[in-house]
Amino acid sequence: MERVDCVVIGAGVVGLAVARALALAGREVIVLEAAGAIGTETSSRNSEVIHAGIYYPTGSAKAVLCVQGRALLYRYCEAHGVAHRRCGKLIVATAAEQIAALHKIQAQAAVNGVHDLRLLAADEARAMEPQLRCVAALHSPSTGIIDSHGLMLACQGEAEDHGAMLALRSPVSGGEIEADGIALDVGGAEPMRILARTVVNSAGLMAQRVAGSLNGFPKDKIPPCHYAKGNYYSLVTRSPFTHLIYPVPETAGLGVHLTLDLAGQARFGPDVEWITEMDYDVDLRRADGFYRAIRDYWPGLRDGQLAPGYAGIRPKLGGPKQAASDFLIQGPAEHGVPGLVNLFGIESPGLTASLALAEHVVEIAGKT
Ligand SMILES: Cc1cc2nc3c(=O)[nH]c(=O)nc-3n(C[C@H](O)[C@H](O)[C@H](O)COP(=O)(O)OP(=O)(O)OC[C@H]3O[C@@H](n4cnc5c(N)ncnc54)[C@H](O)[C@@H]3O)c2cc1C
Repeated sequence: MERVDCVVIGAGVVGLAVARALALAGREVIVLEAAGAIGTETSSRNSEVIHAGIYYPTGSAKAVLCVQGRALLYRYCEAHGVAHRRCGKLIVATAAEQIAALHKIQAQAAVNGVHDLRLLAADEARAMEPQLRCVAALHSPSTGIIDSHGLMLACQGEAEDHGAMLALRSPVSGGEIEADGIALDVGGAEPMRILARTVVNSAGLMAQRVAGSLNGFPKDKIPPCHYAKGNYYSLVTRSPFTHLIYPVPETAGLGVHLTLDLAGQARFGPDVEWITEMDYDVDLRRADGFYRAIRDYWPGLRDGQLAPGYAGIRPKLGGPKQAASDFLIQGPAEHGVPGLVNLFGIESPGLTASLALAEHVVEIAGKT
């Protein structure tokens, strides 16, 4: 049986950030990825927004790691030439009764350490975005966008420069908690068993399944996983907006918002569709709902201007009627298995938080 210091399961943005951080800390690292390329799941099916850290509950892992991660990410992008832009975002109230919600959002942001939000009157917001319909807006200047694939490649490159190895088409199919480490069964063309001192389960949508396949792992420590698909529709014409535009948030998501890619192309979404099976097809029946939601803040949207885009799936720990859940970073102190770190429920803002999450995981892994 092969022996290795650390295995990271999953080469999404979080797994690659963790591999980079472990390698920089001098650890020997192998990344095992089931697919034939990096970042083919949630990490390439998101909005690519660098979130400021505005909405999350006080002291939650999402709040803390988003604010830390955003600062780390901007610095990283600048140092490593990862394409990004601080384009800013507007959260818009389209009815007077939503203004109180903007005040609440601004107060929550300040508690989270985001002090740069500014409340704008309707005419100030329209001076920034002439096509916007609103009665007031909050401007977040530190929200931005990023080339998430560029970030993953940079993390992979740096990890490999520090000795890490990436094994593609290498699905972890199960394993065993042993006295001197965790034995993992790896499928693919040349199935093998690897014994690792440290294992980081960063399998995203499959993290619960991976934890459940490890003999000896306490099953009562595996949280439920609910899939909340987010459909996107693309704007087929040039975007009249230069900022990201968000409505006042809903319960399970942030509402049908407008984000931009680095080429200035606009897309709307993601909405929230609870599913039980993996399915990345955009639900065409949802177009009417998109037109309705968008026209609330952009009445100028014409019929035929939206086309189905793509979809991503959020690994949520809470179901449709439950309160929003936090990231669950589960180390030996929580589950009792030496050397294992599970990352559960890494939905948004996981991309923004990735470098901070990675630092946190290295700290836990260092203690095992
Ligand atoms: C619709 C949507 C929009 C979002 N928008 C944003 C945003 O704008 N900003 C933001 O900060 N965050 C956003 N997020 C969140 C962000 O995309 C995720 O938090 C992040 O991509 C999670 O990365 P990951 O590495 O944990 O998971 P993934 O990218 O899913 O990677 C997991 C990897 O594990 C591999 N894997 C699975 N099982 C196995 C196995 N048994 N063996 C080996 N490998 C395995 C998979 O193939 C996959 O490559 C969004 C998420 C969604 C769904």
